[in-house]
Amino acid sequence: MDKTARMDVRKRLRLDPAAISVTVGEKGTDATPGVKGRKQAAKDVAKLGPKLADLQERLYAEGKAGGTRRVVLLLQGMDASGKDGAVKHVVGLVNPTGVKITSFGKPTGLERRHDFLWRIARALPAPGYLGVFNRSQYEDVLIVRVHNLVPPAEWKKRYALINAWEAEQVAAGVTFVKVFLHISQAEQRKRLLARLADVRKHWKVNPGDIDERVMWEKYREAYAAVLERCSTDAAPWYVVPADHKWYRNWAISHLLTETLQELDPQWPARPELDITGMTRALKES
Ligand code: AMP
Ligand code: MG
Repeated sequence: MDKTARMDVRKRLRLDPAAISVTVGEKGTDATPGVKGRKQAAKDVAKLGPKLADLQERLYAEGKAGGTRRVVLLLQGMDASGKDGAVKHVVGLVNPTGVKITSFGKPTGLERRHDFLWRIARALPAPGYLGVFNRSQYEDVLIVRVHNLVPPAEWKKRYALINAWEAEQVAAGVTFVKVFLHISQAEQRKRLLARLADVRKHWKVNPGDIDERVMWEKYREAYAAVLERCSTDAAPWYVVPADHKWYRNWAISHLLTETLQELDPQWPARPELDITGMTRALKES
């Protein structure tokens, strides 16, 4: 692949600030830009897996050798938009040793006693790691805004606080891959119904999710504000059409691989080691 082809999916899916209302609208959730169909997507992902795993291992090695770089895959989207599925199918392609996954739920008592970014900062991966945020700091301007969990004067300040915090992390070696999983209301309904119909999915059922659907318009507004205010050059948003699970997996695999390809982590050299001498000693032992 040449360099332009490599950058393709990131370019394609990077949030277009001029089209935010379209982006969070019902249009395009079943689009599959960049891929012909399920079969080709599965083939591509199978090919990409080893590449992604190799890149992640290099990053891990770099981190062990004193590097500071790390990657955070940040997943946001409505209930049943496929955040868990993305973790399973995309993050599952790499060595779990180098992965740190954090799911953010309703803040605990301890978390509530701190600033909203406190628990997020604690979840940042160490150098060399791939961090995964299943939900994130953005809940504090999404559910919090929709349900008035703090006064507007409070959450309104958070967009700028989040941007500043992310820029700080980027300067310290973090690369964010912020993914908005975009599903339609109809697809969400289908998935929530499927959950109810399958005893193996009942553990995921939250009666609140059905009430949340009534708030769909409010969430749309809240997501529009996030995309409008928090897609920065340092940490842009990617919008992944997510009605098709296979497309979601395809797109996120590419976004991660392209990001790591650009970081281009190298196996650390160890000039201090006497490789020849050690090899000889071992052979003679
Ligand atoms: P789940 O992802 O299904 O485990 O659900 C986690 C729930 O926690 C979701 O309803 C989130 O909106 C909620 N949640 C996450 N972060 C926050 C937050 N900062 N404040 C309030 N609720 C939150
Ligand atoms: Mg849920």
